[in-house]
Amino acid sequence: MLRSKFVGSLIGSAVGDALGSSFEGLWSSETKIERFSGSWTDDTHMMIGVAESLIANKGFDGNHMTQIFIKNYEREPWRGYASGPPRVFRWIKSGVAWNEAAKRLFSGAGSYGNGAAMRVAPVGVFYHKNLEQLRSVAYNQSRITHAHELGMEGATIQACAVALAVTADPSSELDSHRFLRKLKDFTPNELYKRKLERAWELLGEKNKVKVARELGNGVEAYNSVLTAIYCFLRNWVSFEDSVLYAVSLGGDTDTIGAMTGAISGAFHGVEAIPERWKSGLEKGDYIEELAEKLWFIKNRK
Ligand SMILES: [Mg+2]
Repeated sequence: MLRSKFVGSLIGSAVGDALGSSFEGLWSSETKIERFSGSWTDDTHMMIGVAESLIANKGFDGNHMTQIFIKNYEREPWRGYASGPPRVFRWIKSGVAWNEAAKRLFSGAGSYGNGAAMRVAPVGVFYHKNLEQLRSVAYNQSRITHAHELGMEGATIQACAVALAVTADPSSELDSHRFLRKLKDFTPNELYKRKLERAWELLGEKNKVKVARELGNGVEAYNSVLTAIYCFLRNWVSFEDSVLYAVSLGGDTDTIGAMTGAISGAFHGVEAIPERWKSGLEKGDYIEELAEKLWFIKNRK
């Protein structure tokens, strides 16, 4: 089951990205969605980089992960990267340290975009048994491109949500309130604590426009990470429903889809992901192989 959860999280993240990528930037609230090309974007491309580096080092090595990100980006720069990461990569190539370069973005504030959270599923599964280690690695992998505290904390909360989903038993009812309370206890950040409370209050909300407005559907980590967690929780019974709901909120659909899919896939395991999506997924076999290697490293120790 644990192996299936590792695979489910990474495949789920890629499926959510691919599903959402047809709708990125559109308001698709009432659209009936069933367009699936199977091709994914930067979210999955970078998630693959995170997994490749964790596997190569049997853990986190910031310099190595940075070099993998740069190598992957240079091979396929057309994956829909935002403008920040390529600038950071250029600075690093010119000699700036991997954990210093991203601080230069936004006049020295660093980015609080969701780019560090969208790729974090491998960290969530790999460190699911040790949340303090998970916190440290989620933060440090963020530092490579997203150095603002809100960007790093968003990635850390997303990684924790994946870890909680790995640990939860999918055959018994999920207690959404308990899940949110654990995340609230986990994060020291007041903005995220408030958002978690809001997600709690909105669990029964029928109006999607209100959900998107209050939790956010933007590219900022604080306007998307909690939204993804919410999409999973209110649709915890079904992987399919959770990602379709995520994409139907509009806005940054590929990333919110990817983050929702990562949590939902970690909860249910890969068998719960519809075959029509798995079979059409670009490089699905390779992503599965990465997830299995992560699982193997953790369970051989
Ligand atoms: Mg993307």
